[in-house]
Amino acid sequence: MTGFGFTIGARSGAARTGVIRTPHGEIRTPAFIPVGTKATVKALLPETVRDLGAQAVLANAYHLYLQPGPAIVEEAGGLGAFMHWDGPTFTDSGGFQVLSLGAGFKKVLAMDSGQRDDDVIAEGKERLARVDDDGVTFRSHLDGSEHRFTPEVSMQVQAAIGADIAFAFDELTTLNNTRDYQVMSLERTRLWAERCIVEHDRLRSPDRPYQALYGVIQGAQYEDLRRTAARDLGAMHFDGYGIGGAIEKRNLSDIVGWVTEELPEGRPRHLLGIGEPGDLFAGVAAGADTFDCVSPSREARNSAVYTPVGRFNLLTSAHKRSFEPIDAECDCYTCTHYTRAYLHHAFKAKEMIASTLATIHNVRFTVRLVDGMRAAIERGDFDAMREDFLGRYYAGTASA
Ligand SMILES: [Zn+2]
Repeated sequence: MTGFGFTIGARSGAARTGVIRTPHGEIRTPAFIPVGTKATVKALLPETVRDLGAQAVLANAYHLYLQPGPAIVEEAGGLGAFMHWDGPTFTDSGGFQVLSLGAGFKKVLAMDSGQRDDDVIAEGKERLARVDDDGVTFRSHLDGSEHRFTPEVSMQVQAAIGADIAFAFDELTTLNNTRDYQVMSLERTRLWAERCIVEHDRLRSPDRPYQALYGVIQGAQYEDLRRTAARDLGAMHFDGYGIGGAIEKRNLSDIVGWVTEELPEGRPRHLLGIGEPGDLFAGVAAGADTFDCVSPSREARNSAVYTPVGRFNLLTSAHKRSFEPIDAECDCYTCTHYTRAYLHHAFKAKEMIASTLATIHNVRFTVRLVDGMRAAIERGDFDAMREDFLGRYYAGTASA
């Protein structure tokens, strides 16, 4: 008994339902996992996160390493105890953050500038991260202090934080890197994956709940690289897999499809950093099981909310006298108690409740959307549900 397992339920093409078992409970998949970067889902109490139907939360090893430090989280009894969340937890490896925040380039969104450049630094930015075959040296985005992550350090940090599911340390490349660089980086990530497994096994203790380890599949937009990475890491003893790295939206479905075709069927797959409705459908259809993304909560704090007929911004003057809920079809606390007019006012007045109420809605909307996909796969009408939802959603967004 490892305390971790995955069982596949119904299928519809490559899409599937399942149950991930962890020492802190089960996750019925497909599932959207809200992000609690610094051991808090911003603006929400853990009880609220639970009420929204969220089954797990994902925190960032990089942020918790810098603040408050893994030793404090460990002394508190691990991530769940520290943040008062009794359900399953994930931590990402820090690989994305040491290179994106550390290097100062603007994550995936700014990766497609059209230039081919292996210097992963935004123009004019001070070099804040250096990658070599052994690890990454980076400067803290908080105070500029210098730190070094290796596969071993990432495993030590994640073991101390103590989430149910940890990720192997990988190198984040961008769409601007040359193919030669991607090939070299992929081999580096493969060697790091082996080192992560060794260190993670070394750190296991019978006194601590079993911590699952997911390998991360890189390879950018190249089919052969993605398939090779999935085969190589698929042959290693990981409990599950993350699909990461630079992904252009238009290639998302293909990339996830190549990877899931090569990965072992019986292990769960997590699509890292994906949470827009259309992308979630593409990921589920291609065989991904879980998803995390800061977008629903980040957009909420910027007054943008999702509805079945598209996304809109509560701050526009159209909502000043709109005494209807954000989404009449939504069962969340915000939609059952508040009007768009109130939210418009609260955002205008910069009241904290505005972020809380909008986050409640967007996270509930996203969790419920993926729950709906799970139900549709079980019923056998996932394709029809997808077509129906996306038709309404993008027609609405286009006219908004
Ligand atoms: Zn709502």
